[in-house]
Amino acid sequence: MTEILDGRILSYKIRQQLKQRITRLQEHKVIPALAVVLVGSDNASQIYVRNKHRAAAEVGLTTHDFKLPETVTEEALLALIAKLNVDSSIHGILVQLPLPRQINAAKVTAAIDPAKDVDGFHPLNIGQLFLNNPQSLPCTPHGIMRLLAEHQIDVARKHAVIVGRSNIVGRPIAALLLNADATVTITHSKTVNLRELTRQADILIVATGRAEFIKRADVKPGVVVVDVGMNRDATGKLVGDVDFTEVAPVAAAITPVPGGVGPMTIAMLLEQTVKFAERQIGG
Ligand code: NDP
Repeated sequence: MTEILDGRILSYKIRQQLKQRITRLQEHKVIPALAVVLVGSDNASQIYVRNKHRAAAEVGLTTHDFKLPETVTEEALLALIAKLNVDSSIHGILVQLPLPRQINAAKVTAAIDPAKDVDGFHPLNIGQLFLNNPQSLPCTPHGIMRLLAEHQIDVARKHAVIVGRSNIVGRPIAALLLNADATVTITHSKTVNLRELTRQADILIVATGRAEFIKRADVKPGVVVVDVGMNRDATGKLVGDVDFTEVAPVAAAITPVPGGVGPMTIAMLLEQTVKFAERQIGG
């Protein structure tokens, strides 16, 4: 029987635990708060931000919205971040990507105080992750590791193949898997014979943004599949980067889309904010 790695169930469990931790913080007069900076009116970004707000409100986490116009200058955005960095009532800062062209996203990411970097994208936090001394982890890879752990899937000594090398998914999940003693292969659009490599995977992580890119013939029976992709098919239905109907029957375990990695990403964001707030009471 194929095991479904259900991110909705685990994220619900995590959110219930967070509610208790937030109540404890409130008893210590600490109101955990996340600042969400949204520049412009990108449709997908607005949806992501709305979902983050909803999830935060549900666990009792305060969010502060900073909506800036598409034409905002880099200087003005950096000034806002500098202000949030020193505001002790703000525990986490999230700048929704992508940013408009006039703004250097790398510079903005590096301007966030690493101790408030809930997304784990600051170069210092990325460096710590690669040195196997993680401080703040990128939410999607962190959520994947938690989902695997919840299902007692031990990655040590396994061959993990990752399709995609983005800064937010492919690269950091490679570091986390390596830290957990997996043998890691990272593939991307320039990889030769990519499908020969995916067929060798004990654990296959797919983050390409290509709908149903991985088919039955690309995996070996018994593989554990983590599908990060979120794509719309011709009918508008949300589908992953893996052809679930074809691949699920031969996999030992697989994440569904929706309801797999997505809910875990948001749960990790909330958890990281609470963790940062707990530092204020020595937690
Ligand atoms: P990016 O576009 O930043 O990166 C995609 C990666 O896939 C690149 O490394 C690219 O290679 C590689 N790739 C693209 N096409 C191919 C191909 N034909 N063969 C091999 N490799 C290929 O995407 P993200 O990592 O940001 O996101 C990936 C997917 O995951 C998207 O669908 C996104 O919506 C989803 N996502 C979901 C999240 C969640 O919470 N569920 C969170 C973040 C993302 P190259 O580097 O050579 O260009």
